[in-house]
Amino acid sequence: MERTLSIIKPDAVAKNVVGQILGRFEKAGLTIAATKKLRLSKLDAKKFYEVHEERPFFKDLVDFMVSGPVVVSVLEGENAVALNRELMGETNPKEAKPGTIRADFAESIDANAVHGSDSADNAKVEIAFFFASKDIF
Ligand code: GDP
Repeated sequence: MERTLSIIKPDAVAKNVVGQILGRFEKAGLTIAATKKLRLSKLDAKKFYEVHEERPFFKDLVDFMVSGPVVVSVLEGENAVALNRELMGETNPKEAKPGTIRADFAESIDANAVHGSDSADNAKVEIAFFFASKDIF
């Protein structure tokens, strides 16, 4: 069993496809161990994406992530990190395989519908960023 962090980004929340995206996780065999809707502060968004601080798109990324509410979830299952990345599709929706979340719901590399942890180690850090262990089931 493994856990990963998923964020449904402001574009997908605004499109009202939260249920459809969570449904894809469940259909693929992942369990929603915790979930909540919240709006990131600029400080939180900067901290969450601090590995990208030096990248040219950092400011746009932070501005986008605080532009509206997000839905943050802990997904649990076998190979949860890799499975979630597969369901998400490539970072650039134009390169994402048909049937993936980004191919179906995302418009651009900025507004690309979802975030998913990229390793089990990062997942632990990202999950702890949003959830106390007592709130994960
Ligand atoms: P992810 O793990 O697939 O989300 O991709 P990364 O960790 O590499 O990047 C984090 C987020 O930064 C992505 O989901 C995009 O929203 C954004 N991003 C990454 N690369 C670019 C880029 O070249 N241009 C822009 N505008 N945004 C980018």
